[in-house]
Amino acid sequence: MPTPIQPKVLPSTPSATNPALMIADLLDSGVRLAGDNPIVYRDQKRLSYREFQTRVHQLAHLLSAQGVKAGDVVAVLDWDSHRYLECFFAIPMIGAVLHTVNVRLAPDQILYTMDHAEDVFVIVHEEFLPLMEPLAEKLPRVQKYLLCQEAPQAVNTPLPLAGEYEALLAQQPTHYPFQRFDENAVATLFYTTGTTGLPKGVYFTHRQLVLHTLTEANMLQMPGIELMNRDKVYMPITPMFHVHAWGVPYTATLMGAKQVYPGRYEPEMLVKLLLTEKVDFSHCVPTLLNMVVGAEAIQSGKISLKGWKVLIGGSALPQGLAQKAWDLGIDTRSAYGMSETCPLLTAAILPPDIDQADFEVQKPWRCKTGIAVPLVDLQIVSESGEPQPHDGVSVGEVRVRAPWLTQAYYKEAERSEELWQDGWLHTGDVATIDERGFVQIRDRIKDVIKTGGEWLSSLELENMISQYPGIAEVAVVGVADSRWGERPVALVVASDPTNPPEAEGIRQHLQQFVDAGKINKWAIPETLLMVNEIPKTSVGKLNKKQIRQELA
Ligand code: AMP
Repeated sequence: MPTPIQPKVLPSTPSATNPALMIADLLDSGVRLAGDNPIVYRDQKRLSYREFQTRVHQLAHLLSAQGVKAGDVVAVLDWDSHRYLECFFAIPMIGAVLHTVNVRLAPDQILYTMDHAEDVFVIVHEEFLPLMEPLAEKLPRVQKYLLCQEAPQAVNTPLPLAGEYEALLAQQPTHYPFQRFDENAVATLFYTTGTTGLPKGVYFTHRQLVLHTLTEANMLQMPGIELMNRDKVYMPITPMFHVHAWGVPYTATLMGAKQVYPGRYEPEMLVKLLLTEKVDFSHCVPTLLNMVVGAEAIQSGKISLKGWKVLIGGSALPQGLAQKAWDLGIDTRSAYGMSETCPLLTAAILPPDIDQADFEVQKPWRCKTGIAVPLVDLQIVSESGEPQPHDGVSVGEVRVRAPWLTQAYYKEAERSEELWQDGWLHTGDVATIDERGFVQIRDRIKDVIKTGGEWLSSLELENMISQYPGIAEVAVVGVADSRWGERPVALVVASDPTNPPEAEGIRQHLQQFVDAGKINKWAIPETLLMVNEIPKTSVGKLNKKQIRQELA
């Protein structure tokens, strides 16, 4: 251990202040920069930033009047909306904790998360009343439910309602005396579902969210990436319940960008909003982009999304998909992170010597996981914890440090210590890092395929297969094999089911990569199954656990 150094720390004059980092400051910034810029909800509501700010004050009054106080946990069950954005601010700004409930989980998992989080007040969209009603008696801590409706109408529900969101909001004073408090107070809480066990709660403080927002803003404006600024239009297609839609609503608000919230993700509404609101920038998982680029109206050219920029994360962006999007004028980039990391860790910011105008040259770089963003310390390590060289070949587990990583799983001492070992957060992902610091996630540790003693990256194989014509989607998993330990199996969805690609053609296409020394010949799957659909998780990723179970 080196001897600790003694840097100079000077006293502050008694009258000096050193303000805590507060989520409230993000909102003030947006209003100052662009008070008239709109926040749009479907084709139903438009608010200026100034009006939005007033509504945040009113929501704070509403919650306080209902007895919600600092330290309480408030659950939200809604699709992406201006209301949700109001909750992103008002709930933490009064010192309470925003629990964004993953409404796509099974009811018993939702019940588990709401009970475990100790929710005391619930903001619920009318669509989720049938889900919530049978659960309510098992959630005795919840005192009241605040109902969100698309249009006022009478409801018949046994839930103890506080009233309707819009109606109650309108009655509130327009200024709330928000206080500054400890920046390490918890602001948000949500649950991540791993491949095993019960959902785990992760939580983030005001300080963490502010630092994450500032860094994300910096990343989104970097030269060559330039995805968002005050004058761009933003629409999320990663649900707000999932890692705060990657924190981008906070970042868009900081910048004062026009924001468009699509409600429930319905293809027609999404496309309508993309066109009528002239959306410049969105983010989503690859499967969602795949759905958009495969839509008949887009394929036939009836609808053009030219100029739309999409940040892809949550899973690897296959080069085949990046190409299909590019052919339609859609610009894609990758970023990497996880629920536990707030999420941002890396982004595909192109190195300066890569031709900024040549897509062919850029394509592999755009699809790599990217370089660690400012303030993120990222290493790949061997099983014994030895850092691996940055040679683009050596693989190791990704471990990270950054000022915005969940400090524990909520009320889970043992799993928290598994996540954090030796002062590093262990991601459970294996990756390579090249000489330039570009990270390439090769697999989840659990998804790596071990065949004949060799290690095979399912993501790499998916990327290669995706580049064969006529393939809409592909998933590769390992299945047990008595001779080789495991063999890869590929599930393929054809772009045109009446004219699916030949398995032999795909194998020949893979042979090129074998000949080029990129994979060895054992990587070519004997089993290529043409399927109509690939199972997805609650956030739209390829559900490899389910695929493996079904194949077994
Ligand atoms: P979640 O916590 O549900 O957001 O999932 C996080 C996991 O998604 C990470 O640990 C990675 O395995 C995977 N992931 C996220 N972004 C990427 C990416 N750009 N490329 C490959 N895998 C990714």
